[in-house]
Amino acid sequence: MIKFNNVPFTGRELEYIEKAIASNKICGDGQFTKKCSEWIEEKTGVSKALLTTACSTALDMSAMLADVGPGDEVILPSFTFVSTANAFALRGATLVFVDIRPDTQNIDENLIEDAITDKTKAIVPVHYAGVGCEMDTIMDIARRHGLLVIEDAAQGVMSSYKGRALGGIGDYGCYSFHETKNYSMGEGGALLIRDQEKVEKAEIIREKGTDRSKFLRGQVDKYTWVEVGSSYLPSELNAAYLMAQIEVADKINDDRLRSWASYYEQLSGLADEGRIVLPVIPEECEHNAHMFYIKAADIEERDALISFLKENGVMAVFHYVPLHSSPAGSKLGRFHGEDRYTTNTFERLLRLPMYYGLTQDNVDYICAKIREFYSK
Ligand SMILES: *Cc1c(COP(=O)(O)O)cnc(C)c1O
Repeated sequence: MIKFNNVPFTGRELEYIEKAIASNKICGDGQFTKKCSEWIEEKTGVSKALLTTACSTALDMSAMLADVGPGDEVILPSFTFVSTANAFALRGATLVFVDIRPDTQNIDENLIEDAITDKTKAIVPVHYAGVGCEMDTIMDIARRHGLLVIEDAAQGVMSSYKGRALGGIGDYGCYSFHETKNYSMGEGGALLIRDQEKVEKAEIIREKGTDRSKFLRGQVDKYTWVEVGSSYLPSELNAAYLMAQIEVADKINDDRLRSWASYYEQLSGLADEGRIVLPVIPEECEHNAHMFYIKAADIEERDALISFLKENGVMAVFHYVPLHSSPAGSKLGRFHGEDRYTTNTFERLLRLPMYYGLTQDNVDYICAKIREFYSK
């Protein structure tokens, strides 16, 4: 069986976890957390990167920092993971879903402006498959309307748009280091903060509403409860695992990109014949091969292909029941404009196995099976 995902492991994870234990500090913000945060800051150029317990909680924190509350509206795609929406729904905001582009499956930047009302507080672009949204356009719309931009860059670590790292372009960026992402710490994420002035409040929210971070730096002589917050910092054990991944980030990235390029090349014949649609990477974007997907003609063909691959020992999966048609999403938000591509993409898209260490033989076999399916 060729698995859909494989937990990334690079070799030094246990050594680093032992080191954390030996240092007698396994709670948050020790040596490994510090190193991981510095790596993100260096890669992205943001003022501050804070490791969090998940991308979901980084999104929660960004909603708190953006002061999103009841009566506010937030613009986001419906074709995304539930966490993008939960963060803002938790604060009582109304979700305004906008259609996606058929080439990148990212929010259609040309439809955003029409969805803005006097209640709109933020735009939340999601970089699907680690391929950047049209950020210049989105940032320009936000600037003209006085809105915040919160990037869901869960899938976008090591990707860039016009040379700028995803997650470091908007006011806030959110990364995921979940087991299924390119770089992992089991469960975990990071909040990227562009504006230096927002850092102190973010640190307070992350430390149960206290100014403990300042205390640890010796800036105040005792720490106290100053805001509403929670516990959003991950354990050093998780950060130690992540350290072993990011220090070989280029190696992981190259390995994934090699598999991605091979899929693309071997399936381009079917695309040329018009049987399937392959992903599009805009010229402005450098991606991280987070995912390789194809689009079949319709839901019947997509499901038949998933079954055929399964019978042949290959795990492939579909993606994202559109949020606006889910029980929670239909209650908590509205779809603005026409759903031309969101539901259509959900019905046609199929993700192929993609992970660090996927062998060339496996990629060849999967492509051969897909060609066999379409030859019948
Ligand atoms: C994985 C993912 C998340 C959630 O990440 P966690 O770290 O598991 O909370 C959020 N948004 C998108 C687009 C994702 O792919």
